[in-house]
Amino acid sequence: MAERNQNLWDRQQNKKAKAKKDRAKARHFEKDEGAQWEGGESQFEGARLGIIAESRQKTFSVMENDEYFHCKLESGLDKELSKHLVVGDKVYFDLEGEEDGSILGRQDRKSTISRLRGDSTRYSEASLETHVIAANVNDAVIVASAKDPEFHPRFIDRYLIVCQNGNVEPIICINKSDLTTERHPVLSFYRELGIRIVETSTLTGEGIDELKNLIRGRIVVLVGNSGVGKSTLINSIIPGANLRTMEVSEKKGTGKHTTTASNLYKWDEDSYVIDTPGIRSLGIDNIEKSSIRFFFTEFEKFADQCKFRDCVHDHEPECEVKNAVERGEINVYRYESYLRMLKEY
Ligand code: GDP
Ligand code: ZN
Repeated sequence: MAERNQNLWDRQQNKKAKAKKDRAKARHFEKDEGAQWEGGESQFEGARLGIIAESRQKTFSVMENDEYFHCKLESGLDKELSKHLVVGDKVYFDLEGEEDGSILGRQDRKSTISRLRGDSTRYSEASLETHVIAANVNDAVIVASAKDPEFHPRFIDRYLIVCQNGNVEPIICINKSDLTTERHPVLSFYRELGIRIVETSTLTGEGIDELKNLIRGRIVVLVGNSGVGKSTLINSIIPGANLRTMEVSEKKGTGKHTTTASNLYKWDEDSYVIDTPGIRSLGIDNIEKSSIRFFFTEFEKFADQCKFRDCVHDHEPECEVKNAVERGEINVYRYESYLRMLKEY
């Protein structure tokens, strides 16, 4: 009898081990999406559910109800899988001691912030192969400064592409509002699109509460060019976050094997800000030139009527997009911003 039970136990163990291996294998070969280690609660019954708050190569800090656990991947899982875990990922884990745990699987992602690469061929396929740097982000606060550095629409348009691609809602934040009362005319176009805009000054405190109200109850990232005041803003939203300075993250970024730490900060109930050096300098450098046009969705209805099917709306004759710009039916700043993007890459 005892022997029989022992066999049953063995078999169960083997089944568990096989399932582990299969999950890892599927994950490994099917590359990024839809593999078996992703799944609903039923697959990971009894496991805890947390959110990756910090990722350092193969070890992760997982937050569950304000508590942090130091986690590694479950031993049977392919270690490659740890490359597919980023800050913001919701993971199932088991505790192995008071503060340590092992990660069993990942929930499907609702949204992503990614570096973009590859190309697309149609407006409807404006989704690209990506290198994900944060997951389950609700909003991206696209920070620009009213002045110093100078405001350029194309900086905002780049990040709008990143949001569009990753299913993340944009909020435009014009920081350093204390430096000038002048505002770029393109802002009214973004307002027409329904994009939320907030003007802030970390110096006078203007707009900080308004920004907090917009991002309360959400998971957000701040993106934008360097020097616009992202770290200062985060520090005023989360006193004590003590963000790395530019100098430090630059030093960290040199050399091949240095780690790039990403962090998720909780600043209010259900309210998080993600900070990663990767996000701070996010670009769209890897998008094929010929694909950029597909992210300017307002071009779409005119592009059908361009003389050339592969018209990139630059120098081509009989380009309806250019005509629409001249008629004022496409915002001229958006079009200029598009041309700048074409030339930059
Ligand atoms: P980051 O590179 O986007 O993280 O920018 P930082 O937060 O490092 O800020 C760059 C510089 O802008 C610093 O010298 C800040 O003190 C300054 N700064 C940040 N916010 C404001 C603001 O609202 N008004 C003014 N006048 N300066 C600011
Ligand atoms: Zn055209």
